[in-house]
Amino acid sequence: MHHTPRSRGPGFWALAMGLTLAAAGAAAESPADLARRAGLQIFAGRHLTLLTDRPRRADDGLDELPGVFDQAFATWCLHYGLDPAQHASWRAVGCLMVDRERFRAAGLLPADGTIPEFENGFCAADCFWLMDQSNPDYRRHLLLHEGVHAFTLTLRAADAPPWYTEGIAEYLATHRLDRDGVAALRFVPTPLPRRRADAEQLGRIERLRQLHDAGSAPSLAAVFATAPQAHRALGAYAASWAAVAFLAGHPAHREAFAATERLPLDRDFTSRVRAAPGWDDRAASRDFAAFVADLDYGYDFDRMAIDWSPGAPLTAPRTVSVAGDRGWQNTGGSLEQGQQISFTASGRITVGQASAYRLQSSPDGITLRWYRGRPVGRLLIAQWVEPDDDQQPGFRVLAEGASGTITAATAGPLFVKLNESPGELADHGGEFTVTLAPP
Ligand SMILES: [Zn+2]
Repeated sequence: MHHTPRSRGPGFWALAMGLTLAAAGAAAESPADLARRAGLQIFAGRHLTLLTDRPRRADDGLDELPGVFDQAFATWCLHYGLDPAQHASWRAVGCLMVDRERFRAAGLLPADGTIPEFENGFCAADCFWLMDQSNPDYRRHLLLHEGVHAFTLTLRAADAPPWYTEGIAEYLATHRLDRDGVAALRFVPTPLPRRRADAEQLGRIERLRQLHDAGSAPSLAAVFATAPQAHRALGAYAASWAAVAFLAGHPAHREAFAATERLPLDRDFTSRVRAAPGWDDRAASRDFAAFVADLDYGYDFDRMAIDWSPGAPLTAPRTVSVAGDRGWQNTGGSLEQGQQISFTASGRITVGQASAYRLQSSPDGITLRWYRGRPVGRLLIAQWVEPDDDQQPGFRVLAEGASGTITAATAGPLFVKLNESPGELADHGGEFTVTLAPP
């Protein structure tokens, strides 16, 4: 989508325009003056002046964009603990372009090489450019993504590594619009979208799923090391967004990450994240891999948090309960690689407590509803496997259903859960009882 240059300070727009205008022999004119002279449309709000050569069309929603931008600005301030009142005069200039030559000719897009060629968008301090998009939701997302860059470059002097710069732009731009009647439009931040319709055309969750299923989901270390030029592919944006969403959402990391985001957003940002109190590279890497593996709309960080305790050797029968409203749960029983045990499960869980379509599930699951190839509510028993080769780590399901035998894939604890989307857990009640028995 977009390159972000190293911070050039808030004067960049003036500097770039000054150079262009000096060449044209003109006096200092505002971007709006230049746009007006070139016959471009101008939409202005409190924090955004939007200039476009897009032909005027009824219901194209362009006139709504500055108002949406202003609401988004308030949430960005909140995210960084800035007082919006202290930045009431902050303003960005956005050029929404169909034909970039028109902007060059108008003196609104420097032609002297100060702005590199870009595909979808580019931000330099308080000015950004983006190519028009046919989908209004995606156009608005891209506008806000570049807006976040403008915000962090100017108000936070951001010069952080690309994973954070692009990840936070995606994270803070993701939203849905609620329309209360005809006039009122509400910007609702959905950094981790609740449902597909909240993030039309972004495709990040789907892309990460594909990478995971292909065995090539990026590790947290790989995301941290993402090169700037990698941010041309959807996968890199998706992975950067996932890293920010994970650090900002996971109960073990969110407080420390929020505190780190209040410190300088400079090139030491990643080191600072890893130096936070309680940070453990191996644990963070494992939690991130588990997050990416199970990522879905509405992912519930608190219910999906995993206890990685090593557990005690399973030498005698052990009975554990499996909550219907949580992700992977540690049984406290650990196996040696190749060790065999048997299991039986009983009980009932309720799926969809709050809805009219309340269903009960036994450990075999509900064959009317499926998730990721298995009936919803089906009992899954797994171990966390970290292969020696370059394969990605993850939970390997060893057994499922009401009874059976298990052969341990590795040395370590057994985990149990019900098969369900990590966005639907809050709607479940009840538990299963599982007995694990060595032969
Ligand atoms: Zn960007």
